[in-house]
Amino acid sequence: SRRQIIHINKLVEQSFRLTRDQKIFRNISIHKELDDEMMLINVDTNKLSQVIINLIINAADAMGGRGELIVRTYRNKSAQKVFLEIADTGPGIAEENLNKIFDPFFSTKPKGKSTGLGLSIAYGIVEEHGGRISVKQTGPEGTTFLLELPQYIPAE
Ligand code: ADP
Ligand code: MG
Repeated sequence: SRRQIIHINKLVEQSFRLTRDQKIFRNISIHKELDDEMMLINVDTNKLSQVIINLIINAADAMGGRGELIVRTYRNKSAQKVFLEIADTGPGIAEENLNKIFDPFFSTKPKGKSTGLGLSIAYGIVEEHGGRISVKQTGPEGTTFLLELPQYIPAE
């Protein structure tokens, strides 16, 4: 993998730019709450942007192309961790599916429209980077995915 030191906000912006022309986002309002602090990560940017794109397309799919998507970045300075949250106003994930969504080929979408591979690939990529991906919250008001990555700390 080709790793690069990059600010998480820049990676978020790049990922959104790549999806900008997708019809599914036309009626979705996107709110970004990006913390400007020093939040460098050392990642394979192609792979990580694939993870982010999958999360935002999943969010858009869940909302049926209409709703609000909120993306947040922040850090935990003492834990040297960088966080990215993607929240939607979709219908949530059914309790009985919560432990299946990261499994390869698990999908609740019509066949042909989906592979069910997105989250399992995302899980592997994030793990390779020493991070974690999880569902922070889900319910009838929407779902929030949380991505956690080690902060890159430059040498003195
Ligand atoms: P796919 O998008 O091809 O179905 P994924 O692995 O990306 O495969 O997602 C697996 C499943 O997880 C989806 O089919 C859906 O049931 C559920 N899911 C993922 N993200 C969300 C979300 N934001 N809201 C509701 N359900 C979701
Ligand atoms: Mg998907």
